[in-house]
Amino acid sequence: MQSVPEVFGSMVFNDVVMKERLPKEIYKSLKKTIEEGSDLDLTVANAVANAMKDWAIEKGVTHFSHWFQPMTGITAEKHDSFISPQGDGRVIMEFSGKELIRGEPDASSFPSGGLRATFEARGYTAWDPTSYAFIKENTLCIPTAFCSYTGDVLDKKTPLLRSMNILSREALRILRLLGDTKTSRVISTVGPEQEYFLIDKELYNRRKDLIFTGRTLFGARPPKGQELEDHYFGAIKPRVLAFMRDLNEQLWKLGVFAKTEHNEVAPAQHEIAPIFTTANIATDHNQLTMELLKKVADKHGLACLLHEKPFAGVNGSGKHNNWSICTNTGQNLFDPGKNPHENKLFLLLLCAVIKAVDTHQDLLRISAASAGNDHRLGANEAPPAIVSIFLGSELTSILECIEEGKPYNCADVCKMETGVNVLPDFIKDTTDRNRTSPFAFTGNKFEFRMLGSSFSIAGPNIVLNTMFADALKEFADRLEAASDFESELAALMRETIKKHKRIIFNGNNYAKEWVEEAEKRGLLNLRTTVDALPLFKSEKNIDLFSRHKVLSKSEIIARYEIIMESYWKTLNIEAHTMSEMVKKDILPAVLAYTKELSETLATKKAIGVDITEDATFELVNTLTKLTNSLHTRVKALDDSIAAACAKSELLERAAYFRDTVAVCMSELRAVVDELETLVAAKYWPLPTYGDLLFRI
Ligand code: ADP
Ligand code: MG
Repeated sequence: MQSVPEVFGSMVFNDVVMKERLPKEIYKSLKKTIEEGSDLDLTVANAVANAMKDWAIEKGVTHFSHWFQPMTGITAEKHDSFISPQGDGRVIMEFSGKELIRGEPDASSFPSGGLRATFEARGYTAWDPTSYAFIKENTLCIPTAFCSYTGDVLDKKTPLLRSMNILSREALRILRLLGDTKTSRVISTVGPEQEYFLIDKELYNRRKDLIFTGRTLFGARPPKGQELEDHYFGAIKPRVLAFMRDLNEQLWKLGVFAKTEHNEVAPAQHEIAPIFTTANIATDHNQLTMELLKKVADKHGLACLLHEKPFAGVNGSGKHNNWSICTNTGQNLFDPGKNPHENKLFLLLLCAVIKAVDTHQDLLRISAASAGNDHRLGANEAPPAIVSIFLGSELTSILECIEEGKPYNCADVCKMETGVNVLPDFIKDTTDRNRTSPFAFTGNKFEFRMLGSSFSIAGPNIVLNTMFADALKEFADRLEAASDFESELAALMRETIKKHKRIIFNGNNYAKEWVEEAEKRGLLNLRTTVDALPLFKSEKNIDLFSRHKVLSKSEIIARYEIIMESYWKTLNIEAHTMSEMVKKDILPAVLAYTKELSETLATKKAIGVDITEDATFELVNTLTKLTNSLHTRVKALDDSIAAACAKSELLERAAYFRDTVAVCMSELRAVVDELETLVAAKYWPLPTYGDLLFRI
């Protein structure tokens, strides 16, 4: 086997390969485009395309594909081969700059939320040179953005890149104000921790609910659940270990910095985390990771579940979006730093984060909204639907000192000499792990924990970058105009803390007292997708995104519609799947078992047993009653689906699915789960929770 450094990035057209294979001038010009976002001319594109093609062909590649992220949350690709006919029956392998820069996938089947008229169904993809091309399954994949011909954005990459640009622009203004003359770009960095479940593929194939919806719609509690918490950091099972080894190798080939892997709290649950990188690349890499998790699992006879809540009563899966900003010289700007000067910058940036999160709580909540994640947010193991920031007690005391105009290395904060405003060194180590906070400062980065495991991380990072840039812009406008910079800075911080400190909460976010307290503070508690999503279209949010040219009003409305459509469609598929499983599998199984019991009863009766005193008699009676309610409830579910689909207005329909269909679903589930505990194993048509969670 090759060594890891040899394998790492071997399928990526990265900087090393570019340097090696591109003429010096071309390389320089491409680098400039990558680093500064300058325009790319066709001569450069032609040379790059040619080098890419030669490199790929040497690795056995025959096709290329523009790889993009439509608004569905997954990635899409259309494959074209390199062959070009020569007129004499022969072909040569060709790949032009034009083909590299621009593609035209038949985009009519991707959701556009009405942005494209049907006569103009085609969109185009445009090369994103800031994310390296890579080889996946004999295809050269070119990361691209996806737009319509009218210029509307149809993907997740374009707004993310835009948000990164404005963040850089505004952060640079702040850096200049504080005397930094060297930094030329500020980059948002992200490291997503990804949770998932692994179960046996053969068992997976026997459950229509998993196949069609990604989660179990039925399932009684197993005798053993996660109560012993013996899975977390326990020894990884050999079969899972083999899977992880394989996965790592595949990811490393693609240049993904897969770093840690461990078991999670729930049985059969695991986590993979990469080393952080630029937000755009982290997003591409997380999409690749999710894709490979599924593919590699399949190869190992396993199924990887990325659903937020595959099993009721068992922890769900989330994704932690670790977010920070750093300079092009590699300085992490959320690192509190050692000297007063660095501290000042840190505290100002911290104030901007506090302002941004408080002002745009709704947007963060919306960035984590989906039917799947609704099962998770607010449930016991996940952060509640209320957005708040955890800073730790030291940092919070320091902010209080600033607000009150006291020196912040005062006695109750740290025991350094008074008079000098220096952050105590221990901040980084003592920002403890408040696992219940949805948005926690963890020493030198913020960890946004609301995201569901199947999400693209593009959404929350678009929101984080844009709202943070907006706060920085306001700060920069004010500070640039100040006659006395130092006193204006102090006033700005004081006012910001006073106005927005309600968003800081260091306590237990799972406690019900917090819900009441948050309400008193006037914080939003948007429980479901249906509650949260309409706020996306509010004047405040349209103003924010359009002012910074990240998303236009029509693009926001399109996105709202796509997410809301996907919400009710998800519930619709789940409801239909339940109905079908009950009628085709569960009811027949219960009837067959009842028949066997009834035959036993008949035999007993024939030999003179008093069956009214018999346990079998009682069981048959119970089963009969439950069968009747099964019948009634599945009918109620069917009726509710029909009623929901009859609603023509989108929001009304989604709300009906949430308020009525979902209720019918859980009522039906309750009966099925009770039946599961009564029906003999040989009749029960579905692998149980015990089988699914403990069989690997
Ligand atoms: P946890 O204790 O929450 O599991 P870790 O310390 O292992 O967290 O880090 C989790 C993730 O945070 C990793 O993906 C890591 O690369 C990422 N991370 C660390 N520093 C930064 C940073 N400056 N910017 C973005 N992500 C970061
Ligand atoms: Mg974490």
